[in-house]
Amino acid sequence: MLSNRLQDALNQQINAELWSAYLYLSMGMHFEAEGLSGIANWFKIQFKEEQDHANIFMNYINQRGGRVELKAIDAVDTSWESPLAAFEATLAHEQKVTAMINNLYALAEEEHDYATRDRLNWFVTEQVEEEDNARTLIDKFKMIQGNGMGLYMLNQELGARVYNAPSVLSEE
Ligand code: MG
Repeated sequence: MLSNRLQDALNQQINAELWSAYLYLSMGMHFEAEGLSGIANWFKIQFKEEQDHANIFMNYINQRGGRVELKAIDAVDTSWESPLAAFEATLAHEQKVTAMINNLYALAEEEHDYATRDRLNWFVTEQVEEEDNARTLIDKFKMIQGNGMGLYMLNQELGARVYNAPSVLSEE
């Protein structure tokens, strides 16, 4: 059985993942409106992945006989000065999510809930990838600043990203 403290913290994390989904959907819509449909594609896939993260936590709470409590999702920004600004905001946000996952991990250990700690391992690895992806794109957008051809090519590159459901979802 999940402790109340851990269940509350997991429900808070579901809200944070859904807020992330909302943030990236907003970025996707912004870049779609700006005519950068490749960058929009990248963020729309990010939107799906964040919903997957929320789903993994929701499935997990249910598997443990707990209760999922969905809370209000705060509003998100609706425009960004440039693709670089959006990816910098993405990195800053993912660093906050990493800190939240680390706090959850510490709480699971404190509560001697090793099943939760085990599930969180997937997220620990995922956050390394999330931060690395954002950092790599920040470097690329810095490299091409003010260069129209560079922006055209990066927009094409991000347009090629395809969505893959995480394997952990098909296990359940
Ligand atoms: Mg996430």
